[in-house]
Amino acid sequence: MEARVTRISEVLNHKGSSVVTIAPEASVRDLVAQLAHHRIGAVVVSRDGASVLGIVSERDVVRRLDGADSAPLLDRLVSELMTTSVVTCTPDSSVDDVMKIMTERRVRHVPVVEDSRLIGLVSIGDVVLASIDEIRTERDQLTAYITS
Ligand code: AMP
Repeated sequence: MEARVTRISEVLNHKGSSVVTIAPEASVRDLVAQLAHHRIGAVVVSRDGASVLGIVSERDVVRRLDGADSAPLLDRLVSELMTTSVVTCTPDSSVDDVMKIMTERRVRHVPVVEDSRLIGLVSIGDVVLASIDEIRTERDQLTAYITS
């Protein structure tokens, strides 16, 4: 019996491929509004919705809340807060590999890129759910195998 590998493409088929993006020139005020409106934890920074310039998460905002910087946080630009060296995956990446990346790099969001274009985003919640599904399927197959 061969173990089934779940791919990120299957996760996207399930959750959809829409990604909330924001321009680097947008304000942190706009960013916070997007996070609250969509009930999400991170936004991909992009001007055209296809090329990834960075990623900015609620953690980037929280870390700067101590007020040590000169300009008021809400008036600052997304480009000042974003992480530019973005870790991405492809639709062909396995759920296991993306989980490993999230653990090792300590990120909870990974944009999915194909041919240099943004086609989705997976969060740690998405990969945990997919992984539980994979384990359940394997358990059911093994149970069926030993009881048949
Ligand atoms: P998160 O755990 O996703 O809320 O993000 C924690 C930190 O990692 C923040 O500084 C984010 O800007 C950054 N970050 C989140 N996702 C990624 C990613 N895929 N690649 C690089 N940095 C990221």
